[in-house]
Amino acid sequence: MKLAELVPGRGCGTCTLCCKLMTVSELEKPSGTWCSHVAQGKGCGIYETRPHSCRAFLCGYLSTEALSDAWYPGRCKIVLSSNEGGITAQIDPSRPDVWRQAPYYEQFKSWSRAMSPNGRVMLLRVGARAVVILPDEDVDVGVVSPSDSFFLDMLPGAVGPQYRVRKEAKSADLLRLPVAEQVE
Ligand code: SF4
Ligand code: SF4
Repeated sequence: MKLAELVPGRGCGTCTLCCKLMTVSELEKPSGTWCSHVAQGKGCGIYETRPHSCRAFLCGYLSTEALSDAWYPGRCKIVLSSNEGGITAQIDPSRPDVWRQAPYYEQFKSWSRAMSPNGRVMLLRVGARAVVILPDEDVDVGVVSPSDSFFLDMLPGAVGPQYRVRKEAKSADLLRLPVAEQVE
């Protein structure tokens, strides 16, 4: 199992979106709020001393060669991450419906079809809300806590497996993986 690595030639450029959308526990920074240390359009204002979780983070666009430039977070306003539990897309609340557009929605469905049989979850977080993308439906689970984790229960169905979404109020400390690793 390969950990996330930077795709040669890719970089953050002027994007700083993860500094808004991701939780940084060391700074008690919630998701959806700009970090007080960010220099907009430039990068981290405390780069040399930034917290471990910032050092360890590599978004899906930077670590997944198969993703086109349409997935550059500075443009699409979607930050991808993944771990053993599945793939999460953090959607900037300034563009709450971008995930419904091409090429994003079809890619989320494709990942869901690949991961669901293994119990892995294609999760969207849009502000405080979460949507689980299943192969045959999208389940809006409403307002959730950033620490909530989501799991799939698989039930036999007449025309194939059916999935039920289960929420647990705990964050899973899971291995970070490249997005592509989830669906191989
Ligand atoms: S979202 Fe990705 S590309 Fe944008 S600043 Fe964060 S790591 Fe870099
Ligand atoms: S400390 Fe730096 S890298 Fe981490 S969220 Fe803040 S601005 Fe971004």
